[in-house]
Amino acid sequence: MKYVLILGGVISGIGKGVIASSTGLLLKTLGLKVTAIKIDPYINVDAGTMNPIEHGEIFVLNDGAEVDLDLGNYERFLDITLTRDNNITSGKIFQTVIEKERRGDYLGQNVQSVPHVTDAIQNWIERVAKIPVDQSSQEPDICIIELGGTIGDFESAPYIEALRQFQYRVGRENFAVIQVSLVPVLGVVGEQKTKPTQATVRQLRALGLKPDLIACRCAQALESRVKAKISTYCRVDLEQVLSVQDVSSTYKVPLLLKEQGTLNYLRKRLQLDKLCISPKNC
Ligand code: ADP
Repeated sequence: MKYVLILGGVISGIGKGVIASSTGLLLKTLGLKVTAIKIDPYINVDAGTMNPIEHGEIFVLNDGAEVDLDLGNYERFLDITLTRDNNITSGKIFQTVIEKERRGDYLGQNVQSVPHVTDAIQNWIERVAKIPVDQSSQEPDICIIELGGTIGDFESAPYIEALRQFQYRVGRENFAVIQVSLVPVLGVVGEQKTKPTQATVRQLRALGLKPDLIACRCAQALESRVKAKISTYCRVDLEQVLSVQDVSSTYKVPLLLKEQGTLNYLRKRLQLDKLCISPKNC
């Protein structure tokens, strides 16, 4: 099983969900079976009771689960059917840990965020990633994990730590990170600013995860000198910096990523040639 983690910095609502779905779709073109997990760090068990004006409409899965709209994107982009377990919330994780504690599963132990909550998160991901999501009823090859919110959020901390541990649990060749960032353009100066991206990449590194790809959301395509600057200051190769500008339809985002070599990069990084079955693409 391969995992691609998508997380975001600077601000929320910058297109993590669309980039997660688009990446999954590109990987699917290799003939791989792709599933997806959305992590929402809030303490609600699900999105059903949240204010739609503030949080957006909920998406209802076939099993009746009320979840974030991103799961609707995954289903549409990837032609898969997800269940309530494909949406992790802190409410669900805490409920699991507290039920285990009451049952006596941790008898004698001091139940803590690390390792009990972080283990519960990792076990959940590993279990759900294996559940078939398409008509083939076969275990998926790749699991896209999207961490909602923004790096540095208080609520995200257990997930960042769990995923930091998880990269070692599954091995480097099975785990890649796409960090979505914002490159704002200052109105008067009209300049694409890289500082927020530099800061968020530094913050992620300090937490023990490092980006394999930095997907920069910007109103217009990144200028080549801006790409070069991000590459230099974030200490990644130029091919690891992606420009994800505003487009008229989010269904154009997969092509935007493909044109910049995302698929080739992930193929090498995750050693996908050992897995992929479509001779046209492999
Ligand atoms: P996040 O998961 O980071 O909260 P979403 O993926 O839900 O963000 O995207 C937020 C909004 O931005 C959605 O309405 C989405 O359609 C839109 N969006 C995302 N990427 C792009 C893009 N490249 N161009 C135009 N709109 C986009």
